[in-house]
Amino acid sequence: MKNYGIDIWSNNDFFIDEGVVKVNHASCPSLYEITKKIRDTGIRGPILLRFPHLIKKQIDSLFSEFNRAIKSFEYKGRFNAVFPLKVNQFPNFVSSLVDIAKEYNYGLEAGSKAELIIAMAYNNKNAPITVNGFKDKGMITLGFIAAKMGYDTTLTIEGLGELENIIEAAKEYKDPIPNIGLRIRLHSSGIGIWAKSGGINSKFGLTSTELLEAVELLKKNDLLDRFTMIHFHIGSQIGEINPVKKALREAGNIYAELKKMGAKNLNNINLGGGLAVEYSQHEHIHNRNYTLTEFTNDVVFLLKEIATQKGVDEPDIFTESGRFIAASHAVLITPVLELFSQEYTEKGLRLKKHNPPLVQELYDLYKTINPSNAIEYFHDSLDHMESLLTLFDLGYIDLQDRSNTEILVHLIIKKAIELTKDKDRYELKRIQDRVQERYLLNFSLFQSLPDYWGLGQRFPVMPLSRLDETPTRSASLWDITCDSDGEIDFNVERPLFLHDVDLKKEEYFLAFFLVGAYQEILGMKHNLFTHPTEVTVEFDEDGNYRLEKMVEAQSILDILYDLDYDINEIQSNLKQLIAASSCEDKERLLEILSILLHENNYLKIEVKKDG
Ligand SMILES: *Cc1c(COP(=O)(O)O)cnc(C)c1O
Repeated sequence: MKNYGIDIWSNNDFFIDEGVVKVNHASCPSLYEITKKIRDTGIRGPILLRFPHLIKKQIDSLFSEFNRAIKSFEYKGRFNAVFPLKVNQFPNFVSSLVDIAKEYNYGLEAGSKAELIIAMAYNNKNAPITVNGFKDKGMITLGFIAAKMGYDTTLTIEGLGELENIIEAAKEYKDPIPNIGLRIRLHSSGIGIWAKSGGINSKFGLTSTELLEAVELLKKNDLLDRFTMIHFHIGSQIGEINPVKKALREAGNIYAELKKMGAKNLNNINLGGGLAVEYSQHEHIHNRNYTLTEFTNDVVFLLKEIATQKGVDEPDIFTESGRFIAASHAVLITPVLELFSQEYTEKGLRLKKHNPPLVQELYDLYKTINPSNAIEYFHDSLDHMESLLTLFDLGYIDLQDRSNTEILVHLIIKKAIELTKDKDRYELKRIQDRVQERYLLNFSLFQSLPDYWGLGQRFPVMPLSRLDETPTRSASLWDITCDSDGEIDFNVERPLFLHDVDLKKEEYFLAFFLVGAYQEILGMKHNLFTHPTEVTVEFDEDGNYRLEKMVEAQSILDILYDLDYDINEIQSNLKQLIAASSCEDKERLLEILSILLHENNYLKIEVKKDG
């Protein structure tokens, strides 16, 4: 896996050249160069890079693929879309998105009052706003205010109670009344770890009986002409196309039936989200079995077929894809702080004049290992290690011998990996499992990759440099929280290999890709590690890049303030304790304390260069 599966997950957004990973856009800067430039300003700890051109690329492909399919099937409906804010509400993401959205008339979807306020404040004037999720009177009122501001607003009803509140609000606020959408409860559901949003037992949507009741209620209150959309969402990251087709058939028929019942302004089918992202970096595992072209063709074709069969107008197609739009725009850069067995080098050996025979034999194995005996010597070294550890427990060899054993076995296994490459796959896997190197990364997995912690979702990861060298260490990744869950294990089925770097001589960074959807807002402040420093990378007309909108990770005082600590009290307590102590350099300690309180919580470790 020398290219870290970049051809599988990166969608040509990044490429490897001259040993580094580069942005496939404009002047094609390397991520290493960008990272260095940010660190030159004194920033330490993890960095989240945002690339607005990748937001544009995704929006553009969504619209152009749907419009292509519409044209090629001579479909009479149009395509519209909104971005679901729950996927990423961070201001620097939203401001880039809204800028780009203008030319597509791409709008925003809100699932709570706070998200609706973001949409009302920043959405482009003529672009749609849809409002989903459970709604109280306040949220419905906000929807009416949005309509009065001139936004093309649709309130999607999740239950009949909400409809009653809308009917009341319509009486109170009068025209313009927002459009009304009905979320339908399908018997089809999605698959995979995010599949809970669909199906007959799902948390959301109206059953057939409730739909009939809703239409009657609307009719009775003279609001049926406000009913413009049916909505469903069968779950996020739908990896296979079949459940989508099944749901569409069901929704298409419900649409046609409702039209026939007199819902004459019903002209939108909203498919929700679910468009999947390919996260895999391994050839034998794929997270998505369809392309966007196939997806759009299927949607347009199926809806056309149903409309023709049932003799109703072809509906406009509406989507709320979030993951697909946002995932690729953000890359998390994490500095490697330590390799735990870095001391296992030949230099670390403390061989004696007379070593125990088995240690001497290990040394001989190490010196004579070659491609034809590598596997055999690997086995021998493991045997010897077992025996030597037993000898240690029984008191026959000393700590120095034991240390030599550890080092030699490590060196032999590393050499065996290098010498066998992909010759004997099964044995190689066993070897790799034996010599995992633990890479300590300056980041919090809970803060920056919460879906790994919560759902086991893997994100593509690769080093920023040395990509012209074969990596030989099977790697497990550790974060800096004091929690044993803060680890990404080495997995023989999806192995990650990294380089054997000497951090005293060079810096080594890992990048996690496709982290722009959900991760930021779901991130937890475990151990009080907060959102990493973020930087937006913009390209100007000449293709040069600029680093914009830097937001440094919160200072320790800000973190404590957010937790509702009285930070004045904290500071005065600390001062008093120092004043009351018997130490001599009080002034200096206060100064240091003040500097540390204003720095962020991530580790600030400088690489110490040898000589
Ligand atoms: C979460 C959600 C979306 C976005 O789903 P993605 O899988 O991120 O595209 C769209 N619509 C609704 C109603 C949602 O709840």
